[in-house]
Amino acid sequence: MPRKRTKRIKEEAKKVQPKPTILNPKFWTIFLAIYLLSLLAILAVTNTGFFGSKQASSQDKIANSKFTTSQINRTAQASNSATLVSSSPSASPAPQVKHAVVIPPASGRSVSVPIIYYHYIGLNPNPADKLRDNLSVVPDLFDQQLSYLASSGFNPITLDTMYAALKGQASLPAKPIILTFDDGYVDFYVNAFPILRKYGFHAIAFIPTGLVGTGYYLNWGQIKEMDATGLISFQAHSINHPAMSGLSDAELKRQTVEPKAALEAQLGKKVNWFAYPYGVSNERVWQAVKDAGYIGATGTWGGTVETEGTLFNLPRLKIPGGLTIPQFAQRI
Ligand SMILES: [Zn+2]
Repeated sequence: MPRKRTKRIKEEAKKVQPKPTILNPKFWTIFLAIYLLSLLAILAVTNTGFFGSKQASSQDKIANSKFTTSQINRTAQASNSATLVSSSPSASPAPQVKHAVVIPPASGRSVSVPIIYYHYIGLNPNPADKLRDNLSVVPDLFDQQLSYLASSGFNPITLDTMYAALKGQASLPAKPIILTFDDGYVDFYVNAFPILRKYGFHAIAFIPTGLVGTGYYLNWGQIKEMDATGLISFQAHSINHPAMSGLSDAELKRQTVEPKAALEAQLGKKVNWFAYPYGVSNERVWQAVKDAGYIGATGTWGGTVETEGTLFNLPRLKIPGGLTIPQFAQRI
């Protein structure tokens, strides 16, 4: 092919071919618009306020007894106990929870008594430990919360009184509330108990009986001393705090029967209540708890209404560290 002709063909080809996309100003306008829109979308999604309100609305749905597995998982993650990796109800991805929380449908008679729960009443020895921060209410703030309850006319009652009212065998006082403490830490004796006594408030402490007298846990002497005042009721929280729904039938039986027997032997009183470690349970666990002779059990899903149908997984309200008094008042 002669050179001239080749050149002409090339020039013609250039005319016919559209401009390469990358050189087209229209392309860049559209590209920039898409880029900016995506940037805005990412900002909106990662904003904590957005997640905060989303979480609150999912909690509300849970309180209304309409559940999806993911909502239930989220609740389990947000309201765990001391040994989970993270309990922060923040925008950061929550840790995997192996066992989903199952909530029985509300049915039968009902009463409305907020059951609140605490873990540590003490200063966090390690400020870098954010999980511990979330689970620790400092004694001064705890005192202020009880002062608020007293001045607002709340009447702390026991789970047995709530149960009697639910069965129509007793009437409730005005503004009833139930105070519960999980895990049997020694700070319950050192910090919480003197403040509860100051206000004459009843409370329930859920004890993993296999851990009594070890590490940071209460010993039997302290438990007996508090029990003798009649102010504190000690109830079961398994032997050593496993997630109950993952246990074999035999182990499930051991983790429910033994703590009841141990507390009853030590205190000479009937133990009626069980609290699920991490708030985790399912139908099989409820049956095991029933078979072991308990009359009910508490979970950690949010809500303030107890029904006959939910007796083996009652809702409770978490009181995390650092709540202001108005926040505390709003929560209950
Ligand atoms: Zn616990």
